[in-house]
Amino acid sequence: LIHQAAAAVTANTRWVDDFPTPGVRFADLTPVFADGPAFSSIITALSSVAPDAELVAGIDARGFLLGGGIARDLGVGVLAVRKAGKLPPPVQTCEYTLEYGTAAIEIPGDSKILHGRRVLIVDDVLATGGTLGATVELLERAGADIVGVTVVTEIEALGGRARLADYPLTSLVRI
Ligand code: AMP
Repeated sequence: LIHQAAAAVTANTRWVDDFPTPGVRFADLTPVFADGPAFSSIITALSSVAPDAELVAGIDARGFLLGGGIARDLGVGVLAVRKAGKLPPPVQTCEYTLEYGTAAIEIPGDSKILHGRRVLIVDDVLATGGTLGATVELLERAGADIVGVTVVTEIEALGGRARLADYPLTSLVRI
């Protein structure tokens, strides 16, 4: 099944050069997610990496699509890790550097949601690892136990895996 999901990702990813800035090769997974059997096999494959998760945290914005599907598969709840400025106060914030620019992400300040809970984090693409690294930091600060970090596509040359060395990281496709 993981092999089937990976093949669907590889076959349907649209690579876009120089987006959103010159020199970046953007992995557009839109056609992958729009394909029913491909999306379904991805959700099943990613759900299998942390069957003991109690909450799934999906990263803004494509991680939301995956996070909802995985949470439904596992029968647990889902949390949106948002870009700064979208959530009402109180929030907890973490700033970080991106492959292109800087950014900040936020989660609700209500620590009851995360404290002591086993959390699986999901996003579409691992590039430099800045986003996932910041998410791990933010969720751990809120008392979460990170039981898995998972992505569809890992761009190996950008070295994101090294920034997440302390966590179980799985990717369906490594480029
Ligand atoms: P990073 O923090 O560098 O690991 O970047 C990961 C985040 O930015 C993910 O949310 C991705 O959706 C997005 N991203 C960064 N680089 C790319 C890329 N080359 N192709 C597609 N998405 C990317």
